[in-house]
Amino acid sequence: MAELGSSFYRQFMYPILDKRRGTDSLARYSELKKSQWLSSDEIKRLQQKKLKALVKHAFHNVPFYNRTFKKLGIRPEDIQTKSDLKKLPIIDKETVRNHFEELKAKDFKSWKPTERTTGGTTGKPLRYYSNKSEHSVFWADLWRAWSWAGYELGDRRATIGGSKPSGSGFRSFIKSRVMERNLSLSSFEVKPEAMQVHVKKISRFKPRILRGYPSSLYLFAKYLNDAKVKNLGVGSVLSISEQLYDHQRSAITQAFGCEVYDNYGCPDAGVLACECMEHEYHLNSENAIVEIVKDNDVVSTGEEGEMVSTNLVRYAMPFIRYRTGDMGKASDAKSKCKRGLEMLDSVLGRTADYIILPNGNLLAAVNIAAVFNAISSKIHIIQYQVVQEKKGELKVLVVEDTGFSESDSSLIKDTLLEHMGPDMAIDVVIVDDIPLTESGKRRSVVSKLEVGIF
Ligand SMILES: [Zn+2]
Repeated sequence: MAELGSSFYRQFMYPILDKRRGTDSLARYSELKKSQWLSSDEIKRLQQKKLKALVKHAFHNVPFYNRTFKKLGIRPEDIQTKSDLKKLPIIDKETVRNHFEELKAKDFKSWKPTERTTGGTTGKPLRYYSNKSEHSVFWADLWRAWSWAGYELGDRRATIGGSKPSGSGFRSFIKSRVMERNLSLSSFEVKPEAMQVHVKKISRFKPRILRGYPSSLYLFAKYLNDAKVKNLGVGSVLSISEQLYDHQRSAITQAFGCEVYDNYGCPDAGVLACECMEHEYHLNSENAIVEIVKDNDVVSTGEEGEMVSTNLVRYAMPFIRYRTGDMGKASDAKSKCKRGLEMLDSVLGRTADYIILPNGNLLAAVNIAAVFNAISSKIHIIQYQVVQEKKGELKVLVVEDTGFSESDSSLIKDTLLEHMGPDMAIDVVIVDDIPLTESGKRRSVVSKLEVGIF
């Protein structure tokens, strides 16, 4: 049977989806499609209006904020702009855990809250509540980011994600494939036979966008490049959930013959930073304020720091100045695509993806990837993962490729030592597979140490 066109989905299926969810994502989406072209000053004004309303709500209805404002001797009127936010303390996952009930608004129920949990890839999962309007905005924000990669609502899309091969029931198939036109592939299946099945499915489906973890997409791309498989008919590739490294981007571009767009998202913080066609990272500025912070102070533009977010649409359980745990750099460059949305210069690895060196310095996952990248033509490995359980010690898990020998292990060890100093005890361990996180992510660096950088 011929597949129904995108416009059918846009006009009929998505309104049904909205109705089922009780959301108004379509209306929000058309607003966001317009507001992205407002000037940066106009967007700033929009942001301020929403900030003032949220702060007022938090003061009057949220016991945690009412108490905090009183303790600090400030009134809601004292918070008018993004730069006023520094008068308030930064909160983190621990704050939310410790003040869970107190963070709920008194009119909590009226916001139609839904309980959510974070993925927990970098520690204990966090439980929190989002509200209906936030859910609407979440989808609208996402669709807009996909539109920057050429996707139109109702187009076919595919996802290489965390779903386990056995986890896909009939109901989720109907919801995903039939309602949302999404072909869901598992990132747990990385053997060549599974890759061949992926190839068949994708070339038949011809998705406008293919979304996936860069580590999974990279393995897939490596397979395609080695097997010289071309023209899968993918319009664009969207990299999600993990840091996208340059070598991954170029291998994926080569394999799929299309552009790769990096999409950063932190649902608990309500933040998206996604690449437009010009590969600029734009924030969802109408719905979130992002501050770049180091040692509790906002840093100047162009300086690296942790992203701290204020979700402007979360009313059931407001998070004002919430630590995302991810690093970024703000940009004040003139946008090439002429969108007025704020931009980030870069989005960097999660703060947990760092190795602590014997001298106390930190080495980020991105630096470690660069080390492996530099020696990639000389070593025969399929995957690696650097694990730190103790200070001064490091375990490097590697999955051998044909031609792997003892000298590969030595080269890895010696090269890492050059970057980490001679006091680091490095153990290269050959494994059959690199374990995935529960959500199916493959992380290149796993630190079990508390990294207290800020
Ligand atoms: Zn742009």
